Amino acid sequence: MKLTLLGTGTSFGVPVVGCDCRVCTSEDPRDRRDRSGALLDLPEGRLLIDTPPELRLHLLREKVDRIDGVWLTHPHADHLHGLDDLRVFSTRHRSTITAWIADAHRDVIERRFPYVFDEGTEVPVGTTLPRIEVRSIEDGRPVDILGARIVPIAVPHGSTRSYGFRAGSLGYVTDGKSLPPEALEILAGVDTLVINALWWGNPHPTHFNIEEAIHAAQRVGARETWLVHLTHRVLHAELENDLPDGIRPAWDGLSLELPDGAGAT
Ligand SMILES: [Zn+2]
Ligand SMILES: [Zn+2]
Ligand SMILES: [Zn+2]
Repeated sequence: MKLTLLGTGTSFGVPVVGCDCRVCTSEDPRDRRDRSGALLDLPEGRLLIDTPPELRLHLLREKVDRIDGVWLTHPHADHLHGLDDLRVFSTRHRSTITAWIADAHRDVIERRFPYVFDEGTEVPVGTTLPRIEVRSIEDGRPVDILGARIVPIAVPHGSTRSYGFRAGSLGYVTDGKSLPPEALEILAGVDTLVINALWWGNPHPTHFNIEEAIHAAQRVGARETWLVHLTHRVLHAELENDLPDGIRPAWDGLSLELPDGAGAT
């Protein structure tokens, strides 16, 4: 099993348009943070985690020629609005891509992309659509995906919930403000944790700040924790120095080799 982080930035991305702060103008490539998404290579195929707006560029960068499924964490624009870029796979492989989506998010996602999800959509000759079949996920109920057992983890994210997951020794939690007891239970014993964090100080209503993410990570106790969804308020090199042992800032393109997800809890 392998996890590749496509983007590790917050919803504005870094650099922020029109900003000349020291992070947005940094020459360290690790200070470029696209909107958040990931690729998870499972025993029987490749699961895309979210469809951020830069998805096409991510797929080119990682030389991806095939996607076998997509997991949509929640319907915020920074995680969803690249959905149309799945069209190339439906067209090339003449196949339907399975999307795993929580029931609570299904309506809003389908309404955001009616031309994809409305069964009555007519496709004029010579044009193409992403072909997507939706399957439902529920907090804490394991699903078998591409040869691995994946356990959805719902975390509070303002007025909504974001659905991360556990796959074998990996825990992936994007866009959350806390880890409820049920989430901690599912994450118990993970070796690698990916978790969102914005900046130091100044608590945000819907996301962990870095202090809160450290606290959450220490409760999980993974051997390695990677921070994602970072803003332009943190310089990669400084953050690398300032975090406790075992907790590090991720960067776009970071790839993590992990034990196989098959037969996980
Ligand atoms: Zn986000
Ligand atoms: Zn900036
Ligand atoms: Zn969000």
